[in-house]
Amino acid sequence: MAAIALDESDRRELLDRFLRYVQVDTQSDENSPSSPSTEKQKNLSRILAEELHALGCADAVMDEWGYVYATVPGNLPKGHKAAGKVPTIGLIAHVDTYQGTLGAGVRPQVIEAYGGGDIALPGDPRQTIRVADNPNLSRCVGHMLVTSDGTTLLGADDKAGVAEIMTAVAWMKKHPEFKHGPVRVAFTTDEEVGRGTEHFDVASFGAQYAYTLDGSDLAEIEDETFCADSALVVVDGHDVHPGYAKDKLVNAVRVASAIIERLPREFLPETTEKRQPYLHPYDIRGDVTKVEVKFLVRAFTEEELRERAEGLRAVVLDVERLFPGARIKVEVKESYRNMAYKIREDSKVLDYAFDAVRRLGLEPVRRAIRGGTDGARLSFIGLLTPNIWAGGQSFHSVQEWVSLEWMAKASEVTLHLLEVWVERSAA
Ligand SMILES: [Zn+2]
Repeated sequence: MAAIALDESDRRELLDRFLRYVQVDTQSDENSPSSPSTEKQKNLSRILAEELHALGCADAVMDEWGYVYATVPGNLPKGHKAAGKVPTIGLIAHVDTYQGTLGAGVRPQVIEAYGGGDIALPGDPRQTIRVADNPNLSRCVGHMLVTSDGTTLLGADDKAGVAEIMTAVAWMKKHPEFKHGPVRVAFTTDEEVGRGTEHFDVASFGAQYAYTLDGSDLAEIEDETFCADSALVVVDGHDVHPGYAKDKLVNAVRVASAIIERLPREFLPETTEKRQPYLHPYDIRGDVTKVEVKFLVRAFTEEELRERAEGLRAVVLDVERLFPGARIKVEVKESYRNMAYKIREDSKVLDYAFDAVRRLGLEPVRRAIRGGTDGARLSFIGLLTPNIWAGGQSFHSVQEWVSLEWMAKASEVTLHLLEVWVERSAA
């Protein structure tokens, strides 16, 4: 059997696919109530469904939401030890790009062999990808790199993931001697606007475990997200004509300011990193009579999350004592939970991914995301979905770049992963 490795022509195809996909404008729009939020996302989805057909996925379809689904049927011969025992594995990436940076008219720049140093972007002399801001550049000397021309984003988030999955599917077609279980592919829309799983039907997708390929660095596997709550603080004051307000007026504006003022500095997103939780006042509106303040509460454990919410309540109690006439309500709502809680219940989905990374000769790096992912939501609705690196760097910016080498390794790790699932299921 051929070793699991992309050869020169596979790599060219990976590059061609990626360059083709990034030139299709798929920007999503958080202000649009429709689904998908922008019709143009379907332009790429349609291409992907057709290409999957051409690669032998007879059931490839795009649905009304612009999601693409396809099956690569398992090919284990009857009598193989794992036949009938390998779970169906899902591979997932998103087609849309970030709405804050122009995504139309992408003109990719290909650097055949990166020689080190800062990278000038040909479309805008003010834009330079600097080594100082991109320490990963030093890990990619000699690699083929792709950037935009500096006037748009590149869209490696997440078209790198899309191209990597398509390349893994193409490789399996070229290598029928590679034996694997059933694979389900999904490309989703509107991930960047937080609605990437809104129409995802886990039951009909039919995978028992899945992986997203999205963002992050070579060898990184992400199995943790934040636990997230939102808190709303409502201050009711008492309005009186200010000329006759002595000893009567209770100004909700001042009460709300006192709350914000008393938040411990070390609880804020601008003073925290890594595994530290935060409390973030991000929206305030109102007047003398009534003020509402919205907070994000974030932590990696539910205990720390509760502590932060209690910290907020303690501040509110203090302020209530200072303004006896004010009424203050705190309302905390659950947003999402750390997917590690779910993955811990059946950790082979993660362990096998680590195995696959080691088979590439790399040491896996386990990482926690200071945010949420589609995988986190899927993990809580019944489909455990850790994230595998896709390689994109400085995403959401005109200085986005990606190494073709890291992309090729992502395709390869996916294939290794399918092999690990076969071997472990046979045992
Ligand atoms: Zn992404």
